[in-house]
Amino acid sequence: MSQLTPTPAAAYAASRAQSRSTRQWQQADSAHFLHPFTDHAALARKGARIITRAEGIYLWDSEGHKILDAMSGLWCVNTGYGQQGLVDAATRQMQELPFYNAFFQTSTPPAIELAELLAEVTPPQFDKVFFTCSGSEGNDTVVRMVRHYWASLGQPQRRILISRHNGYHGSTMAGASLGGMSGMHAQGGLPIPDIHHIQQPHWFEHGQGQSREDFGLTAAHWLEDKILELGPERVAAFIGEPVQGAGGVIVPPSTYWPEIQRICDKYGILLVSDEVICGFGRTGQWFGCETMGTRPDLMTFAKGVTSGYVPLGGVMVSQRVSDVLASHGEFNHGFTYSGHPVACAVATANIRLIQQMNLVAHVRQNIGPYLAQRLQDVAAHPLVGEVQSCAMMAAVQLVQDKAKLQCFKPELEVGMLCRAHCFGNGLIMRAVGDRMIIAPPLVMSRAQVDEMVNLILHCLDLSLQELQ
Ligand code: PLP
Repeated sequence: MSQLTPTPAAAYAASRAQSRSTRQWQQADSAHFLHPFTDHAALARKGARIITRAEGIYLWDSEGHKILDAMSGLWCVNTGYGQQGLVDAATRQMQELPFYNAFFQTSTPPAIELAELLAEVTPPQFDKVFFTCSGSEGNDTVVRMVRHYWASLGQPQRRILISRHNGYHGSTMAGASLGGMSGMHAQGGLPIPDIHHIQQPHWFEHGQGQSREDFGLTAAHWLEDKILELGPERVAAFIGEPVQGAGGVIVPPSTYWPEIQRICDKYGILLVSDEVICGFGRTGQWFGCETMGTRPDLMTFAKGVTSGYVPLGGVMVSQRVSDVLASHGEFNHGFTYSGHPVACAVATANIRLIQQMNLVAHVRQNIGPYLAQRLQDVAAHPLVGEVQSCAMMAAVQLVQDKAKLQCFKPELEVGMLCRAHCFGNGLIMRAVGDRMIIAPPLVMSRAQVDEMVNLILHCLDLSLQELQ
């Protein structure tokens, strides 16, 4: 929603943004700020885009341009920008008790209330939560927790976690090791020991020639092959994102996850669902594992739990695991800000808002199916080989030859070219190679989906013109 009369926040943002020119912001940024996942030489040449304020599903930059944020910040602003209830929850909690820790047998009401609420909205096997500040820390916690679990059961040799190439599980040493991003492994000597990867269930890259359903079973059997290769008695857990996000919104065939569950059950291996992106409604259920039909033992979350308003993450722990943890002494692990009162108060307000707005049903029954329907127009575009979507996350694969599904040469960087057109035309879309991806706020209306799809089509036209 653009506003005729600026709110106090908008007026403040405008005066702060105008306190320097865009060029001055960019120079100071380039001089002092090391950004995540950024080529700093390129950034210094071009200058960062300075984002100054947001409302609903829109952002504004320091030049006053309005931008439709089809990535929800970074897959996180599920309830949209400008939710006053979340601001109020943070303010009240900061006034009442801005911080106290949860170590050494102390606790705080907001952390307890959130733990209780998470046990209510997550699948029934989950009865406890371990709080972290991010998804990466959540996945580090998973590695330590599953090893501690098996050691407590007298099976310390069960140390291996299996994950997937092109999966993303964060940027800490263990998170990046679990992830299957070769560029991340190349820097810093990763993965850490006892983490192994299998191929991802990406039909477009690895499955053409098989039906999607047959390929789903083939890809799941890569897990069984790996378990047998390593020795089932050494394998502690398998971790995966229900839908791979950062790898390019890769929606697995419907046969994949049920077969993965069967294999984990067969060998007694813990199943971990990384719900950092898929959690809190994005796939049309509260959690992606519910959409995919699995029953994980552990579940990592972050992002959507607070809609990104403040940092918070954690691990949901099923009774299978929590009973063992509870009866085997101290788990030597934790963070100063585990259960941070302000973050927990905001998360509780955010989850209550999702409930009050009936947002999960809105995604499942209304806006998710409508987006899928409108994406058919995108699929028909001559530059597009495949569109995949799962409720409010989608990928648009750009191809050189639509009939043969033939890709462009990577050095043409067609995805980046398309992304630049999006950026220049008021739309944030991300490029993963030549796969354009979106994960818009869940609060979108149908008119806003139309606006987004029209912008996507326009930017595809501009990209096609430039390539001809
Ligand atoms: N897991 C998944 C599936 C993610 O997408 C991400 C971040 O994008 C992470 C973990 C890491 O979360 P964070 O960046 O909060 O550490």
